Amino acid sequence: MKVIKNPLQMQKIALLTAKKGKSIGFVPTMGALHEGHISLIKKSVKSNDITVVSIFVNPIQFGPKEDFSKYPRPILNDKNICKKNKVDFLFLPDADNLYDKNYSTYVEVNKYSQFMCAVSRPGHFKGVTTVVSKLLNIVMPDNAYFGLKDYQQYVIIKKMSADLNFKTKITGCPIVREKNGLAMSSRNKYLTPEYKEKAGNIFKSLLKAKQDFKSNKNIKSIAADIKKSLNKIETAIIDYVEIRDWQTLEAAKQSTKTVVIAVAVKIQNVRLIDNIVCSK
Ligand code: AMP
Repeated sequence: MKVIKNPLQMQKIALLTAKKGKSIGFVPTMGALHEGHISLIKKSVKSNDITVVSIFVNPIQFGPKEDFSKYPRPILNDKNICKKNKVDFLFLPDADNLYDKNYSTYVEVNKYSQFMCAVSRPGHFKGVTTVVSKLLNIVMPDNAYFGLKDYQQYVIIKKMSADLNFKTKITGCPIVREKNGLAMSSRNKYLTPEYKEKAGNIFKSLLKAKQDFKSNKNIKSIAADIKKSLNKIETAIIDYVEIRDWQTLEAAKQSTKTVVIAVAVKIQNVRLIDNIVCSK
């Protein structure tokens, strides 16, 4: 595995790889790798000749009161995980390499950026789509893999890629969970073991909602039930519980056939997100 820091060098490697007729799979991450990330890496390694993983804690997607400076950065462990999982290139740019002093170009997908996580994290998705477009231009992958855990992010990136004619095929991968159902996240490290256990109830409430949706229960009651059960978790502060069309992310109607039920909740002041796709 080669570690590349310089974007130009990474781009040269990508061009050379394409010239040789080899396919590139790409997994962009912010590091603190866990089984969720590893599932994306495995998928890429299986389906492409070359796999590139990037680790970059992107400053412009964090709000001023968010955890940018304390975000976990266990780089040695991350390198070992990548090596062990047959990653060919680990791309580790510095913020200065990606955003110079005069940086002034941003990418924003308007349609999906006014609800769910966008409300409590203004500017977040603009930061994500900007860095992802830069990374796609540097790595030039045939395939890029994103977790469905960040469902809104996945939909936004897919739309951006289509709207801006990126050649990359965007693939969404299933949510990997802890034994108790808690969606794996680098931020779970901030929870005490006791609260990590309690946070398993997020998924339990989504599973119940899935059953209720299948039996055509009123969607407002389904959302209310989820809120009720999340509120039983000590320290929980609900950001949102939303039921939306799984493809358009428009607010679901009772007649909508397939929805995503998405939640964001702070537990011990740690912001956790999760979702489930349900069909009637
Ligand atoms: P992050 O490092 O949090 O930016 O995540 C990098 C990629 O891993 C994103 O596409 C995430 O959606 C994905 N990811 C994070 N956690 C999980 C998980 N539990 N299951 C599947 N994918 C995940």
